[in-house]
Amino acid sequence: MLPVIGLTSRTLLFPANKKPRPTETVTRTYVEAVERAGGLCMMIPNLDAARAPDYLDRIDALLLTGGDDPDPALFGEEPHPNIELVDARRDQFEISLVHGAVERKMPVFGICRGAQVLNIALGGDIYQDIGSQTESNLQHTQRRLDDGPWHAIDVEPGSRLEALLDGDVAEHSLRVNSFHHQACRTPGDGLSVCARSRDGLPEALEMGKHPFFLGVQWHPELGGVGSDALFSAFVDAARGADSATDSARK
Ligand code: MN
Repeated sequence: MLPVIGLTSRTLLFPANKKPRPTETVTRTYVEAVERAGGLCMMIPNLDAARAPDYLDRIDALLLTGGDDPDPALFGEEPHPNIELVDARRDQFEISLVHGAVERKMPVFGICRGAQVLNIALGGDIYQDIGSQTESNLQHTQRRLDDGPWHAIDVEPGSRLEALLDGDVAEHSLRVNSFHHQACRTPGDGLSVCARSRDGLPEALEMGKHPFFLGVQWHPELGGVGSDALFSAFVDAARGADSATDSARK
């Protein structure tokens, strides 16, 4: 049995019968990365938060995909002038999924917005706009046509991320792509920063006491150094969760 990876989706307006209709979408590169790593994708539509446990019952691991800006009300702030599109319904649903996954010790992998959502779900917060709220003089919204690596990150020595990237990373440093104008600020409960860009901003967060709980600010599903290692480790962890869940069901 292939481990089932639940992928959160993004609700977009697409024309159907010439009218814009809310449509649940998953960018294909996430699907391809999970497939390459040996996982079976299950798309999770954005539903009422109360539906989260029913999906968690049927998946072995949770992949929080990228997307719009989290609602700043979730961490007690008013919206910054530079905030972009917000989908509060998706936020609430994904936060319920994260809470349930933590309780179940289910593997969680958050990418870009997903890293920010898992941080907020555990009581952390984010910079609503890097350009105006930090001293950063590094561009995190790259304009490189091929989506290739853009800026360096330094991986925390001794972190689980470092172990996952073992062999792919020279001197604790690698180059990643960057498509975000927000960034994690204070880590949530049980989370630690395991990689930073050279402007000091968190680029990855991990939870120590958990089979696999990692958020990365870059997009490994688009490729790059260490990407296959991250998805393989995630799907391997899902395989472990599979047997644990099976024995719990018996
Ligand atoms: Mn970045």
